[in-house]
Amino acid sequence: MTTTEPTIGTAPFTTEPMDDARLATLVAALRPVLADDQILLAKTDRYNRARVPAPFPVHRWSERVPDLVVLPTSTEQVAAVVRIANDLRVPVVPRDGGTGLTDGAVPMRRGIVVDVKRMNQVHELDLVNRTVTVGTGISMMKLNERLAQHGLFYPDDPASYPCSLVGGRIGTSGWSLIGSRYGHTRDLVLSFDHVLPTGDVLHVGDGIGRKISKSSSGYQLKHLFMGHQGTLGIATKATLKLFPKPEAELSPFWAFDSYDDAHACTGALARAGVATFAGAVLFDEHKVAYLRRDDEAYIPQPSDVRALVCSVMYGYEDEVRAGGRRLFRIAKEHGARYLGDEISEGDWAARHDRYATPLHGRTKDGQVIPMSWHCEDAAVNFSNVPAVSRAWHEILADLRRKTDVFDDWGMFAYTSASTGVDYLTEIDVGIWEQRLDDAAWAAWVQAKRDIAAVAIAHGGSMSACHGSCREGEVDLLPQELGRGFDVMLEVKRALDPNNVMNPGKYLLDRAYGEDPDVRD
Ligand SMILES: Cc1cc2nc3c(=O)[nH]c(=O)nc-3n(C[C@H](O)[C@H](O)[C@H](O)COP(=O)(O)OP(=O)(O)OC[C@H]3O[C@@H](n4cnc5c(N)ncnc54)[C@H](O)[C@@H]3O)c2cc1C
Repeated sequence: MTTTEPTIGTAPFTTEPMDDARLATLVAALRPVLADDQILLAKTDRYNRARVPAPFPVHRWSERVPDLVVLPTSTEQVAAVVRIANDLRVPVVPRDGGTGLTDGAVPMRRGIVVDVKRMNQVHELDLVNRTVTVGTGISMMKLNERLAQHGLFYPDDPASYPCSLVGGRIGTSGWSLIGSRYGHTRDLVLSFDHVLPTGDVLHVGDGIGRKISKSSSGYQLKHLFMGHQGTLGIATKATLKLFPKPEAELSPFWAFDSYDDAHACTGALARAGVATFAGAVLFDEHKVAYLRRDDEAYIPQPSDVRALVCSVMYGYEDEVRAGGRRLFRIAKEHGARYLGDEISEGDWAARHDRYATPLHGRTKDGQVIPMSWHCEDAAVNFSNVPAVSRAWHEILADLRRKTDVFDDWGMFAYTSASTGVDYLTEIDVGIWEQRLDDAAWAAWVQAKRDIAAVAIAHGGSMSACHGSCREGEVDLLPQELGRGFDVMLEVKRALDPNNVMNPGKYLLDRAYGEDPDVRD
């Protein structure tokens, strides 16, 4: 690949901890801006902010711990911290809930973690225009508790709903479980205040106001400043679209004795054009097998069940009931067996903790062992979901033939748009982290690369919601984006001349000649 030679000074970023003198200089510079309890230096505070759900070889964890953590409470404080960091050439990593699955909030080059959790205020609730302006450290669940008093809700609903925060949703451009009806984070966030890597503050959104949903003035910067994984700055205050809190929810759960029927049914549900349809989830055969062998699974899985489909509708009672009748009819035509109200409602209610329940896997001999959950996701067209599923399971089967460190926990496919054009496909993997040594890690990274390659080969994207900045899939980013990747490098260099904002992510160091391939 070719890039231009660096034209600006590149800071000597290192993965070594900051020495005492440099740390003292940094703390002294921050003292006029932040109170003592907003600057955290203790080992536990720093290690806690280095923690993310995705696995990393435990014996190498200490390589990715920040030198210090700050807890700002306002846009002005965030801007001042970033300005100081830029002047001193210290890396800055934004962190909200720390639930991101692609290591975006991990301080690869140490430096300062900016934890925005104290910026969790509701600044303005506009009942007439139906918007709310919040600090980006608020979670969707906490926000909705407040909005419920007014009969409103903010429908960004990831599986991590209680613990991921609005700023992290912007940083990842996340995907919502009910996006087929309400859209995803990028559709629901109207505008936000954003601190650039130099410490300048801009307002991002359509139009100059906070609450405009569609403008044709100038470049549309909103998407640029979403999903960048903290590499282009920090969102501090966001204005969000609100909807009436749905009066009714219907979440039928159907069993199938054939995966192909379940796949066809999911597509038919999504394409039916039922206005209350908010999404459908397809559980494949491996997922059903996993639930069946799991001691803690709460859904009965008779042996003739080969696949499951969970659909969900939201709206007024009258429209949900009518739309539901149509979807039940479609499901029946595809051979569905309704699992009953109790299981249906229970499964949908479990959507926010479904992942956390069975944190154990199996050795090849069937022995139960502690494992942690990891998943790889991709955006794939409906027609390609079965082929991608087959190829992904084969990659994991190969990995499993080599070692017991991994287990195949099956796949979900989730509808994304209201027309059913593309699906978030996700393969869940159990990883025995205590056994994750360098050799197993290398095998895992190769498997991730292979998984991403399958998505691209099928005309998909490597990630529908988590992002692709981890070792393995990130290697394929230039391939997926083509010339667009060079544009990314140009944008990064223009907005972050000193590479202070979350360095080491998305191969963006190449913009500064910091990549070995570029130097050679
Ligand atoms: C159990 C579980 C289920 C999940 N389910 C889903 C799901 O259904 N859909 C989905 O999309 N994701 C899901 N995720 C992934 C994760 O929850 C999302 O990516 C979420 O958007 C991350 O939010 P966060 O607040 O935890 O951000 P963090 O993990 O703190 O940060 C994520 C990225 O955004 C950057 N960032 C953080 N704050 C800001 C800010 N204020 N401004 C700019 N950049 C910032 C960080 O540097 C990082 O790169 C799941 C994760 C878990 C653990």
